[in-house]
Amino acid sequence: MFSYRHAFHAGNHADVLKHTVLIATLDYLLEKDAALTVVDTHAGAGLYRLDGDYAGTSGEAADGVLRLLSDPKPAPAEASPAKGSAKKAAEKPPEPLADALSRYLEVIRAFNPKGGARIYPGSPFITHHLLRDHDKLKLFELHPTDARTLDANIAQLEAGRQISVLRDDGFGSATKFLPPPSRRALVLCDPSYEIKSDYARVLDFVAEALKRFATGTYAVWYPIIPRPEAHDLPRRLKTMATKAGKPWLHATLTVKSSKITTDATGATHRPGLPASGMFLINPPYTLKPLLAAALPQMADRLGQDRNATFSLDSGG
Ligand code: SAM
Repeated sequence: MFSYRHAFHAGNHADVLKHTVLIATLDYLLEKDAALTVVDTHAGAGLYRLDGDYAGTSGEAADGVLRLLSDPKPAPAEASPAKGSAKKAAEKPPEPLADALSRYLEVIRAFNPKGGARIYPGSPFITHHLLRDHDKLKLFELHPTDARTLDANIAQLEAGRQISVLRDDGFGSATKFLPPPSRRALVLCDPSYEIKSDYARVLDFVAEALKRFATGTYAVWYPIIPRPEAHDLPRRLKTMATKAGKPWLHATLTVKSSKITTDATGATHRPGLPASGMFLINPPYTLKPLLAAALPQMADRLGQDRNATFSLDSGG
């Protein structure tokens, strides 16, 4: 069985990218009255304690959402300040956060009304927070412990038939909800990529989903790691979207080098996840300008070394 548990990673830089994109996409899709179905193929546990044992073990949120919540960054000083203006530059108000990032933090803060971020909402809770009563949410989670926790967390929402939790294989079963009766859907595909075959399964899943429902919005998260399958995934998704004649958008965030280093004692250090990407097919047209403003701030604030960067590309 799998060993990946999202609780160790909740609120890290990859979640900041993924959930910022998720919220901006949902905000657009929910502007129309007609019902929306959201299918979350890899849902996780739904809610996470950032002060709990899991999150504390890796502290990944400290370099992710917590940095954004606690660090209002001053606006950059002018390149060549006029005489006597250095003090003025230092006193400049903090640079305002880009709309998509402040909206992301607004949602995170809604789960932490007393301040700070003890609770981090995963994709099921973020989505439910934004959905209206007539929208639907289908959640797939295969890990027995996380599926049980997800069930218990969702039960507290008393959302009735609006939310279905399925202890089932998201790759194999989620397409059965496509197309939904209202013919409006967002599909989030966010596997753990714990097994190499996940990369091929994402491609098969998106191909099948597009065949059933060509006008759905598809959002795939993937890790950027030195592995050929990870490198190929966005390239192959791009080819698939282009062949289907569908618009696509590809955003990446890098926070540090992927190099394995060796210290003076000869011990090697793996960097942890250095970067990740979101690939969308049929993205909202509003997403690109929102990310163009938000991604530089993400790279700047979440960057851990001088390799921090971002990319944003679209087509179709
Ligand atoms: N989407 C969640 C979020 O943003 O909060 C995080 C999901 S986590 C990256 C991936 C989850 O997929 C894990 O909880 C794992 O147990 C689950 N999983 C792995 N393989 C699966 C499969 N074939 N079907 C459904 N869930 C699976």
